[in-house]
Amino acid sequence: MPTYEYECTKCGHRFEKFQKMTDKPVSKCPECKGKVKRLIGLGGGVIFKGAGFYTTEYRSEEYKRREREEKAGITAGSSTGKSSSCSSCSSSSCSTCGK
Ligand SMILES: [Zn+2]
Repeated sequence: MPTYEYECTKCGHRFEKFQKMTDKPVSKCPECKGKVKRLIGLGGGVIFKGAGFYTTEYRSEEYKRREREEKAGITAGSSTGKSSSCSSCSSSSCSTCGK
């Protein structure tokens, strides 16, 4: 059962209420009968979604950056990597240098 947090817009009284999803939200302050607003607390759906969205965005940016670096690395490595790994190759059937 989710816990909803409310804050009175009139006196500022804050309180929590255990409610079913189907229950009507509290609209009156138990202290002064003023109007209350429901606060979206930690673990609330909106905040959770926001965090997930942020993570996805961060990942995609990180992915793009790494992809660029990887491509640059492959380009640089293809000229130097091949000769360094097989410069002293004595194999008759090397798959790296094609001998
Ligand atoms: Zn109040």
